[in-house]
This record gives sequence, C-alpha cells and structure tokens, in this order.
Amino acid sequence: MKAIGILTSGGDAPGMNAAIRAVVRTAIYYGYKVYGIEKGYKGLLDEEFVEMDLSSVGDIIQRGGTVLKSSRCDEFKTPEGREKAVEILENYGIGSLIVIGGDGSFTGAKMLSNLGVATIGIPGTIDNDLAYTDYTIGFDTAMNTVIDAISKIRDTSSSHDRVNIVEVMGRNCGDLALYSGLAGGAETIIVPEMEIRTDEIVNKLKTTQKRGKKHSIIVLAEGADIDGGALALKKILTEEDHADVRVTVLGHVQRGGSPSSFDRILASRLGNKAVELLIAGKSARVVGMKDNKIIDMDIEEALSMEKEFDVDIYEMAKVLSI
Ligand code: ADP
Repeated sequence: MKAIGILTSGGDAPGMNAAIRAVVRTAIYYGYKVYGIEKGYKGLLDEEFVEMDLSSVGDIIQRGGTVLKSSRCDEFKTPEGREKAVEILENYGIGSLIVIGGDGSFTGAKMLSNLGVATIGIPGTIDNDLAYTDYTIGFDTAMNTVIDAISKIRDTSSSHDRVNIVEVMGRNCGDLALYSGLAGGAETIIVPEMEIRTDEIVNKLKTTQKRGKKHSIIVLAEGADIDGGALALKKILTEEDHADVRVTVLGHVQRGGSPSSFDRILASRLGNKAVELLIAGKSARVVGMKDNKIIDMDIEEALSMEKEFDVDIYEMAKVLSI
C-alpha cells in the first residue's frame, strides 16, 4: 500500500495542526502509512520526511502555527524541481500528497498531480481569500484576535478621545477587515474591494464628532488602496480634522494563537475528508466548506473562481456605524 505525504506551505495559520492531526489519525485508522514533510515544498526537495504515528499528533490540536513548519520554495516552481519532487516521493513509496496552504500551494499541488502524484488541497490561510470555500482554516481565529485587539484599543481610544487606525492583514482580501470591523464596532472599514475617498473618511469623523463621539476606530485592510497606507491616512486625518490619531499595525500577532473551536472543527472535518478522497482514488481536488457542508472541487476550477466580497454586509456595517 502506498503511503500518504502531508505538508503545510505558504503562510501559516492557526488550525493547521488540527488539520495535520485529522489527516494522520484518519490515514492510520484506514491502515495507511503517513509521512510528515517539513517546511513545505522546500522540505520535500530536501527530503525532510518524518514518519508520523498516532502520538506524533497528540497534544497539538490546541496549538497555533504548524508542527510541520512552513516555507516558500522557488525551486519547486521550476519543472526540474517538480520532477525531482516526484522522484523523491517515489523513493519513499508516497503515492499521494495532502497540501495545507493557500492558492500558491494549491497551484503547486495541481502541477504535481499532472505528474502522477495524487494530491488534495486543504485551505489554510488567515486571509479567507479562496473563492470556492466560505471559510479557510485560521480565518476565524485571526478574526477573534483582531476583535480582541480592537476592544483593547477602543478602551484607550475612548479614555483619550483619540482616533485609532488599526491595520489588519488579509492581502488583497477584505474579509478579515470587514468581519472584525463589524464585530469590533469600527466606525469606518476600509477594504481593497470597495472604493472610499479620504474626504469621505474625514467627513464621517466630523459627523461622529459633532454628535459628541470623540473617539473612533478605523479598520484598514493592508491591501486597501490608500496611498501611503495607514501613516499617510493618519497625516490626512490629523491635518483635516485636527484629530489625535494613532496607528496600530497588528501584523503577525494575527497569524498566531490557539485556534478557535470553529477552526479546530473545520480543520478536523477537512483533514478527514481529504484522506477519504485519496482513499476513494481522487486527485487534484480541494476540500472546503459551503453552506456549512464539507465539499470538494477540482483544484483548477477552485483556483479559477473569483472571490466575491459581501457588499451587503459591508453596507450594513456602514449603517450600524453612523
Ligand atoms: P500560499 O499557498 O499561502 O498562497 P505562496 O503563494 O507563497 O503561499 O505559495 C507557497 C509555495 O507554493 C511557493 O513557495 C511555491 O513553492 C509553491 N508555488 C506557488 N506558486 C506556484 C506555482 N505557480 N507553481 C508551482 N509551485 C508554486
């Protein structure tokens, strides 16, 4: 019987460990041998393989990060690199590979499947930027981290009548900013998907200040189209509104932490499904969640889908923050 390989690739996300645990336990339950491949595709090419047993994934469901470590690997992007990867997998008797990562990692998995390795992708990224699934592993935890930070910033903003710009991650996807901004009661949410002029932001500030509210939280997605980013926005608000403005860039704190129950459950379900698909002889598929159901889809089809931003929620958040 051919063994299953598993790796985590690209940016790490809380809940990846829960997915690794689910893959290893399900595979062993069905009688498969599992190799953990450390540091993503780079570790594949460097042959950093460890055979996993039931206890090697014990006590990790609650831990952030990834015990298999992650990295980015340019060599794997070359045809020679991928051929070398296939050869190495063959030497270890690994016929199939589960890849936990984002769209880049899925592209790599698709290419491997073209070379005869059965691959399944599990979405792991805090950005929630994959169109085919409602949620990616790590998004919920990151959102809770941001909400926690906003709540703390709100306390001190209120004490000092300050305006706080909170920059959150998400790359080109505004989901993290939108949902944490909504849940954190932000006065303004700025995302890459929706155009907003700086004079609108200034006017909004003036309006809320007129009705006696001196503090304000502005959630700014890192990928939003604001020339010069958070610091430039701070300058504009200070000049136009004479506000006392502070900037908090949350950064990598959003990538860490113990995964939420939602992420642990999602990761467990997706890991389990990924192995079931391999056992059923499937390849070049990704797993995800749609309308609370676990689904799977062709990798290429999934990657070709365009992420839809929820404009209704965005507009609603505006109404709630007048
Ligand atoms: P993510 O999976 O989070 O989107 P990256 O885009 O950095 O992260 O991709 C992670 C790794 O996946 C890359 O370092 C590379 O090894 C592999 N990869 C990304 N894009 C490709 C590609 N076009 N062809 C082959 N491998 C790729």
